[in-house]
Amino acid sequence: MRRRILCITILLVALCAVACGPKREATEEPTVTPTTAAVTATPTVEESTPTPTEVPFTPTPTEEVINNDGVPEDSGCFRIKLSGNKEDHFLTTRFCYIESEKYFLLLDKDVDLPGDFTQQMDLLIDALEEVTGLSYVPDYKPDGMDCSTVRFGYNPWRDMDYKDKIPIYIFIDREGQNLISYATNMHAVFISDELTSEEVWNSIPLFRDNPNRRMSYIDYFPIAHELAHTITLRHGWYTKIMTEGSADYFAEKALKSLSDKSTDFAKSVENRLFFTTVRDKITAQNAEKIFIADYLNLSHAERGDEYTLGRMICIYLAETYGDSFFKDYAKAVSEEGFPMEAGGIWFNYSEANAIRQAEVFKSLFGDDVFTKFGEWYQKQ
Ligand SMILES: [Zn+2]
Repeated sequence: MRRRILCITILLVALCAVACGPKREATEEPTVTPTTAAVTATPTVEESTPTPTEVPFTPTPTEEVINNDGVPEDSGCFRIKLSGNKEDHFLTTRFCYIESEKYFLLLDKDVDLPGDFTQQMDLLIDALEEVTGLSYVPDYKPDGMDCSTVRFGYNPWRDMDYKDKIPIYIFIDREGQNLISYATNMHAVFISDELTSEEVWNSIPLFRDNPNRRMSYIDYFPIAHELAHTITLRHGWYTKIMTEGSADYFAEKALKSLSDKSTDFAKSVENRLFFTTVRDKITAQNAEKIFIADYLNLSHAERGDEYTLGRMICIYLAETYGDSFFKDYAKAVSEEGFPMEAGGIWFNYSEANAIRQAEVFKSLFGDDVFTKFGEWYQKQ
């Protein structure tokens, strides 16, 4: 039970991150294509001793065998490649990166990755595109990277050219500050307990002395949630309720579709607690009003209902309208031209804009969509 409470706490804190993540700054660093040939090298990594099967996740540092001649020590343009075997582990000892078809993994020091992590992430992004019906790169072209998100005081990946791919940061919370994951339409940022090296983990009493904190598997749910944000936000700006609710809805759906691919995916969704009710009583009469209010005035400590209500709306729309509901919603809001919020997370809230979003809903799903949803919700 304690673990469940902890999970919920972590979930809520992690999910809150979208709202309270750092604001993007107006200026962005110009993207520079690295000139060093070493960046395109694809070195391999020696296998480490296989982890005993009864211990699902025991990070084991492995020796790097990498040809990145000429890449300065403080540059993140140091490319690595994982072995592909789950039992192997790669421990990063410097800033580095992995390039895959749809993303760059930008890695902090002291990240302990299982050898199949790249394949897992490939599967996850493919599944998220499948369930959302949206491409990770529509007509969106990143024009630079937001360095305000980099927590090192400088950006070791400053020379990277991300092309159309999603930059995905994995950071280590080495000071034990309870750093939280977040995402924008540009990129996703993860702080993962399970990917933290044993050495760093054991150096932080808050972490080390809490046996319930770290899962025995990699919890992909927060990763899937944030990546769902990045993919959906590349197609439009939504209400807070729909932004957060859809991220939970699609993370769950993607992970379920992958449950037979790995036990980590299966456990990530099986062990997730989903709420189905919010504190406000939702009825046929007030559903539209609550949708328009968009939980704008929820304080940080009270947040959570937008995730639950938004997810329930997604379930309802999928059942009644079909799986393309979100894709059609994204297209409609994109055509309507909603302005983005200054922080780059969801649409710029005003009551007028929220009413316009409700009108988009009605034009797509029927004038009685909120009434019908309220009736449906009562039966859940
Ligand atoms: Zn979120």
